[in-house]
Formats: sequence, structure tokens, C-alpha cells
Amino acid sequence: MEGKLKVGIIGATGYVGQRFITLLDNHPWFECVALCASPRSAGKTYEEAVEGRWKIDLPMPEYVKNMVVYGTDNIEEYLDQVDFTFCAVDMKKDEIRSLEEKIAKLETPVVSNNSANRWTEDVPMIIPEVNCAHAALIDAQRKRLGTTRGFIAVKPNCSIQSYVPALTPFLGNGISKISVCTYQAISGAGKTFKDWPEMVGNIIPYIGGEEEKSEKEPLKVWGTLAGDHIDLKQNTLISAQCYRVPVQEGHTAAVSVSFENKPSIDEMLNAWNNFESEAVKLGLPSAPQKFLQYLEEDNRPQPKLDAMFENGMGVSISRLREDNIFDYKFCCLSHNTLRGAAGGGVLTAELLTAKGYITKK
Ligand code: NAP
Repeated sequence: MEGKLKVGIIGATGYVGQRFITLLDNHPWFECVALCASPRSAGKTYEEAVEGRWKIDLPMPEYVKNMVVYGTDNIEEYLDQVDFTFCAVDMKKDEIRSLEEKIAKLETPVVSNNSANRWTEDVPMIIPEVNCAHAALIDAQRKRLGTTRGFIAVKPNCSIQSYVPALTPFLGNGISKISVCTYQAISGAGKTFKDWPEMVGNIIPYIGGEEEKSEKEPLKVWGTLAGDHIDLKQNTLISAQCYRVPVQEGHTAAVSVSFENKPSIDEMLNAWNNFESEAVKLGLPSAPQKFLQYLEEDNRPQPKLDAMFENGMGVSISRLREDNIFDYKFCCLSHNTLRGAAGGGVLTAELLTAKGYITKK
């Protein structure tokens, strides 16, 4: 590739947007050249627009401070600056669906963190290490949209990004039942303890829409490409409970699982320790060298110690043991705003670049 691809971020002022900004600072393939948010932020410099609400534990990169933020009411001018765009916004679902489709029809690829288009039949929902073949769905989508460059690709919900990777090596064993309880960080709601003090010392046993996403999205991610849609994975039943807990970064999942052909404990440990990542084989710059790690200590993984494993892009697993009701139970953890949001978005864009779907305008 000659020169970097020009990228922009819609929702640049939000929590996920801020993560994108730090990840794109000196990215080897992508240069962030434009920022977009609501009409409330439009016309301000980025530094002014996020005054008092920079939430990331890293300093704001210099390159964004004086960039003037576009509003979504001026999307054409914003899109003129970029080869493709990330999108992570807090808007109504139908508004996001039409915004993303409009961008794709304006011949700009969108890599989206939003849930609005996850169930659009010809939109691939990608975890590069798990289902990179689903990228081919873009060909059918372009036909429907009548575009040559533009398309929408999405990443799945942050809640599934520990247990879906951990169970992927065992698809061949017939995963029949999964019961999962997630313990989700407050950054998943775009918050810090400063702006959500009620969460200190507290648990909320409900996150709107999260249990449905946690039960359904794995079936598309694990599904089979069938021309213009994905055939959902059959014969796997998932039951999820999703709790908000007083953690800043890192979603933990307690998983119980049954198989049609139960693997041994050794086979499971071996599969985790020797997982071969397609993202590494393709040389994607943000791919973790080790996607899955198994920790022997019973008191791990812990968000504070392990969420940043592999720069927040790896999944930590532990406490594999026999279960009285299911075959096995274990614990796993992934970083929700890196692997589960902006980092997963950047890695997906790298995959789509490597496969030739994202190119220069
Ligand atoms: P957030 O911190 O509340 O940020 C929301 C962003 O949306 C801000 O940039 C805001 O701009 C922008 N926005 C709001 N209304 C808009 C409009 N009418 N037009 C254009 N932009 C508008 O939210 P977040 O946590 O970053 O989440 C963003 C998206 O990512 C959501 O769809 C969320 O479900 C998804 N997601 C989040 C996580 C996570 O861990 N946080 C993980 C996976 C997916 P202003 O500053 O101008 O208001």
C-alpha cells in the first residue's frame, strides 16, 4: 500500500471514539484525518468539544486537539476527507441504521461499533480471529446497495468477546448448551466512576438489551456464509445473565458449557494454548500474537491485572473444571473498550484492508 489510508471517526467525542483516537495515533496503515460527532460538538475544536469529558487513562494525542469536529448534519463534507470511517454513536437505532446506509451509499466503507445493523442480513459481524471468511458477504451487500466501494461491516457486542473466542476452538465438538453470566465494566456504558458515582460499591443486575445480544450474536458470528446472508449456527442454546459491576475496564464472564462430544480437560487446555490466529497469519498490525491465554492461578483473571493482556486485545481464561450440571465451567475476561469496541473495530478494518475491501478513494 502506498501511503496510509485516510480514516475518520463518527462519535469521536464519546468513550469509544476516544479509544479510537488513541489507537490511531501513529497507526502504521491508517491516518485519522477527520472527526465527527453530534451537531452539539460541530464547529468546535476537538479539545473544546471534549472539555471536561476526556475519559481515557492516556493523554489526549496532540494530533486531534485542533481538528475541527464535523456534525452528522454535514456528513457529505466529512466523508469527502476520508477513505473509510469508524462509527460509534449514541443515537436511536433507526437513525443509526439510516446514517450508516447513507454513508455506504455515498461510497464510503463504515466499520461500526453500533448494534443497529448487526442483524441486517448481508452485513458481516466480524471477530477477525473467529470468522474472517464472513467478510465475503460484502460482495452481496454492495450488489444490494448498488455501490462499488461503500459497505457496512460491524463488530459484535462487547459482552460476547471473551466467551465466543474461548469456545471457538470447540465448534467441532458440537457446543450444545452455554450458560453465561457476565460482569460488565461501567465503561461499557460510556461512563467513569466520576460520572456514575452510584456504581461505587454497587451492582446492577440488568443492562438493557444485553442478554438478548449475548444469546443471539454468537449464532451469527459462528454461522456459515450462504451467499447473501449467514446461516445462523444451529443446535447451540445460550442463556445469558448480564450484570453491571463496579469495574472501570474489562468484562468478565462465568461460563458453563456442554458438548455433544465432550473434549478432555487436556484437549481444552491444548486448544487454548495453541490457538492459531488468522489475524496474525495475515500480518494485521493490531492482532495480538497470543489471542487466548490460560492462567493457572485460581484468583485470575482480574480486570486490573489482565484486561490489558496483549494491549487489551487478548482473552484470558482460567479455572477450567468439571461442572455438576454442564460438562465444564470456566472464567474468561476481555477488555471491553479495546477488544470489545475500538480495538476490535481497528482490527476489523485492518482485516478488510488486507482482503482488499477497504482501498484508497
Ligand atoms: P458515548 O460515550 O455516550 O458517546 C456517544 C457519541 O455519540 C458521542 O461522540 C456523541 O457526540 C455522539 N452522538 C450522540 N448523538 C449524536 C448525533 N445525533 N449525531 C452524531 N453523533 C452523535 O457512547 P460510547 O460508550 O462511546 O458508545 C458508542 C457506541 O458504541 C454505542 O452504539 C455503543 O453501544 C457502542 N459500543 C460501546 C462499547 C463500550 O464498551 N463503551 C462497546 C461496544 C459498542 P456528542 O459528544 O457531540 O454528543
